[in-house]
Amino acid sequence: MDFQLLIVGRWVNTGSVMEVKNKYNGQTVGSLPIARREDVDAAIAAAERAENIMAEMPAYKRAEILLRTAALIRERADDLAKTIAAEAGKALKYARIEVDRAINTFTVASEEAKRMHGETIALDAVAAGEGYFGFYTRRPVGVIAAISPFNFPINLVAHKLAPAIASGNTIVLKPASSTPLTAVKLCQIIQEAGLPAGALNLVVGSGGTVGEWLVTDPRVDKITFTGSPEIGRHILSVAGIKKVTLELGNTSPVVIAPDADLDFVAKRCAVGAYANSGQMCISVQRIYSQKQVYEPFTEKFLNATHGMVVGDPLDERVDVGPMIDSKEVDRIETWVNEARDGGAKILTGGKRDGTVYYPTVLVDVQSNMRVVAEETFAPVASIISCDDFEESLRQANDTNFGLQVGVFTKDVDRIFKAIKGLNFGGVIVNDTPTFRVDQMPYGGNRQSGLGREGVKYAMEDMTNIQMVAIRLNPVQ
Ligand code: NAP
Repeated sequence: MDFQLLIVGRWVNTGSVMEVKNKYNGQTVGSLPIARREDVDAAIAAAERAENIMAEMPAYKRAEILLRTAALIRERADDLAKTIAAEAGKALKYARIEVDRAINTFTVASEEAKRMHGETIALDAVAAGEGYFGFYTRRPVGVIAAISPFNFPINLVAHKLAPAIASGNTIVLKPASSTPLTAVKLCQIIQEAGLPAGALNLVVGSGGTVGEWLVTDPRVDKITFTGSPEIGRHILSVAGIKKVTLELGNTSPVVIAPDADLDFVAKRCAVGAYANSGQMCISVQRIYSQKQVYEPFTEKFLNATHGMVVGDPLDERVDVGPMIDSKEVDRIETWVNEARDGGAKILTGGKRDGTVYYPTVLVDVQSNMRVVAEETFAPVASIISCDDFEESLRQANDTNFGLQVGVFTKDVDRIFKAIKGLNFGGVIVNDTPTFRVDQMPYGGNRQSGLGREGVKYAMEDMTNIQMVAIRLNPVQ
């Protein structure tokens, strides 16, 4: 077996083995042990025992470990990117960007580790507080269960581990079963960077068993989960009293005003819709174009779509690789065919080849079709013509989700109308909802989740405020 679990600072094997496949050609990329209940139990116990060591580790030491981690990721960037391309099917050019982002995430965390602070509180702002001095500090919550999805095998793991370490917590990580190998390599790096034994534990196995054991365990103080809304809702219902951060799905809209530069918009929308085969929570899905520019935009977007190179993700020239598995291709094929049967037109794509689904553009869709109303999580975008800017904002907002939205306009009145009118965690002006850098607050409103990531904001959710009130003259 070439990969192992990390429990109490040791790499361990268990009885049964799972194989991780290359998502394009089906070949085995690596194998690793499936955690049993006793392994999950040992991992949580180890994390609990390491709590004090991490809570008492000075900020500069936490910062050093995080910075060393960033340096080791940089040294091994090529291998990590190729592992992502093989196990996730992500085109190598985007896998390399993901690795660079993970370096940023750990570097930012090393800086934020030094800036975790509270504030003074004017207790004497009310008469009852006269004679008291008040302040609060932030204390690590303790044991964090980190559960990650398949689509960003290093950077979404980084968004959980880096702030957890920066804020002095211990971790049990369960990565997605389809893409655990990059996570194993990242844990090896963090261990080499000097994190104490037991502070980071890695267990692998299905969400229904290993994930469920983790999220229901009373020794876990916080769950940080990124994944589907369905599993997020389930976790919230079984977690008990714990802090929970949920980063869930979206049906990412784009709004195009007539003053936008359509060549630029079309190119950005194509990257946003098809990178990682549309399997991003902020992939461009619903494009609302004002009717004056609907036809020229559609033509430019089609051209940009035709320019996408589809194929083996390990080929440096490829833009669009396979989807994560054939079940997902079946699902999107059903949704697109259902839309076509309901009157939508497929302008390009709508076909598959093994686990590859070709970049697909739909028009004449209805708002209740699944390709519009539900998260497509596939390389499929719909263009919808709107009478005016207000109508496109209204339709973009007409969703249960609220992660990020993109608005293309140079008009300042429209920009502020969009910012005020859109109920999303992030409004991206003159770029697609796919824009993200790793230090910005990131997370969704409505059914898109609870809490925010982006290192500093994740650290806030990974700490408890401890209030201190000191009576200054404790004498009669
Ligand atoms: P998923 O099926 O929900 O799985 C996510 C993780 O949860 C996996 O590690 C999975 O394990 C685990 N899991 C499954 N059932 C569980 C349970 N009962 N208890 C605990 N853990 C459980 O999601 P996915 O298909 O990997 O990822 C796609 C989804 O993630 C999309 O909806 C996307 O929008 C969302 N996403 C959101 C963000 C964001 O930041 N908002 C970012 C990326 C992705 P197994 O792999 O073993 O099933």
